[in-house]
Amino acid sequence: MAKVKVEAVEAIKNLRLFMQIEDSKNPDCKFMQESYDSLDMAIKSLEKQIPQRPVEDPFEEGILFTRYKCPLCGCRRLGHGFDLDKCHCPECGQKLDWSETPW
Ligand SMILES: [Zn+2]
Repeated sequence: MAKVKVEAVEAIKNLRLFMQIEDSKNPDCKFMQESYDSLDMAIKSLEKQIPQRPVEDPFEEGILFTRYKCPLCGCRRLGHGFDLDKCHCPECGQKLDWSETPW
């Protein structure tokens, strides 16, 4: 599934690039800003569905285990000690891939 989404993100990014090229060729008849905004929104929401590995959060005083933060927004309320959905960042909704995390 993740592969399909990666390809979908690439397709939307290519479309966006195509629009920018067309805009530079035809400055009098540009795509609407709303169209760009919609594509950006689609890219962002699809990217959040592609699992990303949590980022190790370096030493923090008083905490003995490794902590992790969200690769997208840096939210630190992930994993150990937090009784939350482990699959998504509680802040931005980024899907998380814990498969290589040793716990
Ligand atoms: Zn996040």
